[in-house]
This record gives sequence, C-alpha cells and structure tokens, in this order.
Amino acid sequence: MFSVQGTPNCVKMNRTNILLTFDYELFLGARSGTAQKCIIEPTNKLIDILKKNGAKGIFFVDTLYILRLKEVAARHPKAANDFEEIIAQLRVALKNGSYIFPHLHPHWLDAEYMPEANEWKLDNKRYYRFNALDKCQQQDTFDQSVKLIEWIASAVTSDYKIDGYRAGGWSIQPFADFMPLFLKHGIYHEFSVRKETYFNSDAQYFDFRNAPQPDIYHFADDILKEQKSGVFKEYCISSVKISKYVSWCSSKANSLRHVLGIKGYGDGIGVKSLNVETSSQHDAHGNFELMASIEEFNIVTYFEYKKAAKNTDYMHFLSHPKMITPLQMHLFDRFLRTLKSKNIETDFRKFTAVKAEPHQVPVAL
Ligand SMILES: [Zn+2]
Repeated sequence: MFSVQGTPNCVKMNRTNILLTFDYELFLGARSGTAQKCIIEPTNKLIDILKKNGAKGIFFVDTLYILRLKEVAARHPKAANDFEEIIAQLRVALKNGSYIFPHLHPHWLDAEYMPEANEWKLDNKRYYRFNALDKCQQQDTFDQSVKLIEWIASAVTSDYKIDGYRAGGWSIQPFADFMPLFLKHGIYHEFSVRKETYFNSDAQYFDFRNAPQPDIYHFADDILKEQKSGVFKEYCISSVKISKYVSWCSSKANSLRHVLGIKGYGDGIGVKSLNVETSSQHDAHGNFELMASIEEFNIVTYFEYKKAAKNTDYMHFLSHPKMITPLQMHLFDRFLRTLKSKNIETDFRKFTAVKAEPHQVPVAL
C-alpha cells in the first residue's frame, strides 16, 4: 500500500511506517476549554508514552492561539502561566525527538480572552478558514507562526527544520493560498488530506474525493494531482475499514462510555458547523471507514487498529490530546508496546531516503 512512485530508494516493504500526529490546540466552539485540561495534561501523558516506546510524534501547534495567548499574558497571570507551560512542554517534546510544526486556525484572530474563566470566546466564524483572510493577513499570520516555532525550537537546537504543515480544519484548499508561503519558508511535507472525504459548512471546507491513490505522493501546485517531479509531498491521513457488525459493536461501546460519563481530558466544546454537506463514511455494504485516531479507540475498535497496523506498511494517525480519554491513553501505550515486535518506523524523515529538491519548484509564484 505504501509507495512513493518514482523514488528509487523506497523504504523496505517489511517495515511499517506509522505516523503519530497530534493537533495541539484548544476547542474552537462554544467553550474553548482551558490550556491545562485540553493541552498540558494530556500532552504530558502522550510525551511520556512516546518516550517510553521509543516513538516520535508530530505535534501540529495551533500557533495563532499561542500568539494570542502571549499577547494577553502581559496583563493576565493565568495566561502567562499557560504560555510558559506550553512553551516548556513543546521544548520537551522536541528534546525527546518529536517534531513541532505550524497548524493555523485563523479563527483566533478575533477571539476574545475571558480572564475570570481563563478561557476564550470564539463566537465569530468569519475567519475559520485560511482562505477567508486577505493576502496580507495570510502572509502575516503564516510568517509569525513560523517565527514562533523557530523561537521555541531555538532553545533546544540551532538547526531545527520547519518543513511540515497541517491546515486548521484540513482546509488546505485552494492550495494556491499556501503554495507561495510554503515555498518562502521551505515547507515541503503536507499532512492534511484524508482520501475520499468531503466537508462543506459555514466554517470549514475541504474536498479530497479525488485525491490520488498512493498514501504518500508528490504534488506541485494542485494537492489533488500526483506529480512525481512535484516538490511537495503529501502524507495522507489513514482510515481503517470496519465491518457493519464491528461498527455496531463499537457504537454500543461508545454509548456505554457516554452513559458512564467518561470523557476526554479536554474541558471545552468543539465548533458547531451549520449547513453541513459531507461525504458518507459507509460503503454500499455498510462497512465503515474509521479515521486512524487514538480518540476512536475503544474495547472493540482497538483490536481492529492493531490488526490493521500488523497488515499494512503505512498508517497515519491523527489525534487530538483534548479528545483522548484516560482509557484511550492506556490503549495507545499498549498499542505501541504490542507493535514493538514489528519493525516500525515513526519518523517520517526515514520513510524514504529521497527528498524532493527545491529546484523542482514550478516557477509561477
Ligand atoms: Zn486543528
């Protein structure tokens, strides 16, 4: 399944490439939640689990939130404390070998800080998509985001390369918005596409129904068009197919979880989208495509993920620390432990020896 066509030094087929990616962020809906519960507490546990199992993660950092936090930290001690803890935590993640890359949610541009609750008001959805910003705002927010990551990393290493990106809300289209910024900052690895999915609402938009077949592919100016000479590389988010019966059992396990009041670490509420159009995750036989994600682990699906990881050579997990429950955290640790007997690689830089060269960039900017 894993293939980077046109790259002569492809990874050996007996190795499983597992990407463990995390969106490092608060909630973006009616309640942002607190940094302690949504970010610090669960991420500390994830960092420990990754370290214990010799695995690397990629943390996609909601840079515009952190920049806004820094702004209010000058006047509010609780925000200042959150800011310091977040920076320190990201530096620990880096020291342990994980990556930190930018993840922009422009929704933060008009968010309002509420000092008493130490939370944020995010009512207005006008800036939810990067595409809603004008060119000047796009450039400014992107430049500041890269600068922030550079500053965080500079305390750990002098040559940290910021060359990966995941779009907030997966809204990477139109890619023309990002292409000049990617080229300016040397970003060549993209992590937003989940094949066969589509979502359109008053806040968010992406359409990956025509994404190329390979799990990893090169592209140039169109994210949905595989181009072997393209300078950018897409690492698709994986799905795991589960049968109608397993899907039914899983929904029962999730219902039980809700009845028992078991929730994720985070204390916020996600964005509520209106006028939603979306692709179905069921096929004609009722099988279900479950996203590869720790927050989808339960006592039923866990075994499906384990089976899938053993039978594939590429799996890209996308998880949100804020959504993970203590049981899922425990299952994640077990998942990595059981895979140790297999030859797994969690560092995307080691997936292939060949890197696209900047001189292959199409000239039109
Ligand atoms: Zn996000």
